[in-house]
Amino acid sequence: MKTHVKALVVGGGAVGTSIAYHLARAGWDDVMLLERDELTSGSTWHAAGLLPYFNMSFATTHIHDYSIKFYKTLEEETGLNAGFYVVGNLRMAQTDARMDEYMVYATTAETCGVPFEWMTPAQVKERWPLVNTSDLKGAIFHPTDGYINPADVTMAMAKGARQRGVMIERKWQVDSYTWTGDHWDVGITKMVEKGGNLVPSDEKSVIHAEHVVTATGNHAQRTAKLLGIKIPAIPVEHQFIVTEPDPALVEYRKTHDQHPVLRDADAKWYVREERGGWILGPYERNAPARFEYGVPDSFRADLFPLDLERIEEEYMSMIHRIPSAETVGLKDDFNGPICYTPDGNPLVGPAPGLRNMWLAEGFSFGITAAGGTGHYLAQMMVDGEAEIDMASLDPKRYGSWMTTEYAARKNEEAYDHVYVLHHPDEERPACRPLRTVPAYERQKARGAQFGHVNGWERPNYFGPLDADENFDHDARSFRRGGWWQYAVDEAKAIREAAGLIDASAFTKHVVKGPGATQFLDWFTCNKLPKVGRINLTYALTAQGTSRTEYTIVRLAEDEYYLVSAGAWTDYDADFLRKCAADKAGEFGYIEIQNVTTQWGVFAIAGPKSRDVLNAVIKDADPATALSNKRFPWLSCREIELGMCPVRAIRVAYTGELGWELHHPIEMQNYLFDLLEKAGEAHGMKLVGARAQNWLRQEKSYRAFGNELGRDATPLEADLPRFVDLGKDFQGKAAMEAKGIRSKCCTLLIAGPDDADPWGREALYAEDGTRVGRLTSGGYSVAFGKSIGMGYVKPELAVPGTKLKVKMFDKLWDAEVTEDSPYDPSNAVIRVDG
Ligand SMILES: Cc1cc2nc3c(=O)[nH]c(=O)nc-3n(C[C@H](O)[C@H](O)[C@H](O)COP(=O)(O)OP(=O)(O)OC[C@H]3O[C@@H](n4cnc5c(N)ncnc54)[C@H](O)[C@@H]3O)c2cc1C
Repeated sequence: MKTHVKALVVGGGAVGTSIAYHLARAGWDDVMLLERDELTSGSTWHAAGLLPYFNMSFATTHIHDYSIKFYKTLEEETGLNAGFYVVGNLRMAQTDARMDEYMVYATTAETCGVPFEWMTPAQVKERWPLVNTSDLKGAIFHPTDGYINPADVTMAMAKGARQRGVMIERKWQVDSYTWTGDHWDVGITKMVEKGGNLVPSDEKSVIHAEHVVTATGNHAQRTAKLLGIKIPAIPVEHQFIVTEPDPALVEYRKTHDQHPVLRDADAKWYVREERGGWILGPYERNAPARFEYGVPDSFRADLFPLDLERIEEEYMSMIHRIPSAETVGLKDDFNGPICYTPDGNPLVGPAPGLRNMWLAEGFSFGITAAGGTGHYLAQMMVDGEAEIDMASLDPKRYGSWMTTEYAARKNEEAYDHVYVLHHPDEERPACRPLRTVPAYERQKARGAQFGHVNGWERPNYFGPLDADENFDHDARSFRRGGWWQYAVDEAKAIREAAGLIDASAFTKHVVKGPGATQFLDWFTCNKLPKVGRINLTYALTAQGTSRTEYTIVRLAEDEYYLVSAGAWTDYDADFLRKCAADKAGEFGYIEIQNVTTQWGVFAIAGPKSRDVLNAVIKDADPATALSNKRFPWLSCREIELGMCPVRAIRVAYTGELGWELHHPIEMQNYLFDLLEKAGEAHGMKLVGARAQNWLRQEKSYRAFGNELGRDATPLEADLPRFVDLGKDFQGKAAMEAKGIRSKCCTLLIAGPDDADPWGREALYAEDGTRVGRLTSGGYSVAFGKSIGMGYVKPELAVPGTKLKVKMFDKLWDAEVTEDSPYDPSNAVIRVDG
């Protein structure tokens, strides 16, 4: 066996096999795959093999789309039939809300070019008469997907990989990983059969690998332990049952093609044909997590006992939908481990804190996702970045605060939520509250309805004080939810008086030391600020796209305070630390401290915000302390509010006069009370993240994860004023080489009376051609209509261009505005007083 390779893939399920294949296809000719047992012996062998397009994420839609197209090519390449039955996929809706969900999904699907058709209940009945459509509102049909044989597709990818030079070694288990500074020494053990069990032998070896990818499925917790990191991938039980042949189906099939994969989302199941009978796959309540601390040695290609009682409700609802199934007996059952993560998305990308270590773990739709994951992960490894933004799948979206208990309970919830209505304003309840700021109880007492950001509780909006426990849940919608008016009132408070926003979840780093200035000058694309001033800037990927957005405050000649998005603390920390370690030899010692949990942040904004602060500021001359002269826009000052020392930064993400008040977290309640009291005289309101999100769009402020991501450069985000082309910085040449493929712009939208865009909608030109997509959306209180930001062909990103937005299956008029349609000259932000 070869012992020196460029890349070692650990795990021979669908995912690992696809990654090995795609690394070879992308040009790496020294790739090895190790599997402790047989290929497909993990979750892959017992998957039902469905390949659904449907999901609510842009990146995942691209991944699924790639897989579905790629699997169709495998037979021609390898001569092996992957067992792909392109029977289509019919997703039925029992309620209007479910149809709304499909329409919100469909406009995103259009941005990825996914084909689909709408069907009425009558059309469904006409084509598939065995289906009871009496209580349906409609359905969405995907003609090009279907189901596949998971073992066959894996074997076809394995053959394709071997044809491209990949070495596949079975019965070798990885037992240790040691980073030597430029490669991994991977300790492996030959596994042998003993009494039906798979046990380690005395035969050991070491593989020297420049890069390692782990795709270890249900063994992710063991992998995490070996690597000394956290991986929130823990399996949950998932079962499906197979019926005896259904005579009505057998008769029907004499003259008709197979049924599509049927999904009754409101009943929480999928059904497909299997040898004249049916497979029913329910996503029932109370499926337990398994293997929280690792897979026992005795568990090989095994299954758990069927729990029929748990899926009784779904079973009965299948009989309701397909009445002929009522008298058909059960033939077979499968109850296997299906890996989950707390948000249901897999973990794909660089491992936290480690070099050349890539994770591909936590796949719950791993057969569907394997092809695309291999393709895009190979792009990341070989080219430095994938063509789509993979941030939503990045393993570092979970921080070091994450525990086994959290992952297990959240994963059970993610399973349970597969078929809930996926409202874009959904907030899931399990494991909360967990990370709370001191003012949490005060905010709650004032009606805060919280969202969940990187584990933190953050007010989304403030609802009625007498709200019951279910208020926020019942306020959700695919259109304007019950929370909408509260957010309107909060946004108006900021435009007309003052608002106080809890922004404590912001990620905060201190970067200092002799190498700090040179390092940050190279690390970010804008000029560094002078001492006491701030700048908005971007750290780029090797491909010149936006990796992170920072507000940089220069505290001293060689000391900086970096503020970035709250959802991405470990993601940002990891990149910053790795880049600084790479550059310390060149620039000198660079110290990096993650101070996120030491500093609370309140953002106060609005025309009356200065008056509120003036009432509590302690200063030799309080009347001028916050004036433009002593505290200009885009500067930072250490001030005292009552007895609280505050690092005040004069910026406002809402585009009004305002300050971010960074304060010692232990003084937060004191400061909250002080500001709340002072605000009473000025109509100050507590404001949540939803109103803030709308207001920043009126100012065309790009948001990380929406307009800013690894698929667009800051120039494509139309931010040339924050890019200093006169200096050299990381990713500059790649950014320039990319040119402007599409461009960010802001749109005012004459949408439906009862809905705003969510920021995932397809954009069309007036002649009906698709020209881009929204990345943000909401309501503008300043303009009294819907607003959005997005990317379109560069020639269309011009003020006055008339476009159309697809919402709820209709095209609505939209017009590209100038950048910052509200207060374009920044007059109100700079107002003196
Ligand atoms: C009942 C059921 C039905 C399902 N139906 C579908 C479906 O219809 N569609 C769909 O898309 N998904 C479905 N899934 C999910 C799907 O099975 C998984 O998402 C997919 O198989 C995951 O593939 P994987 O390669 O990540 O993991 P696995 O298939 O589990 O492969 C991981 C491999 O890594 C190996 N390994 C682990 N540790 C080591 C080590 N240290 N050294 C060497 N090798 C190691 C294991 O032996 C294993 O073979 C279903 C799951 C279940 C349980």
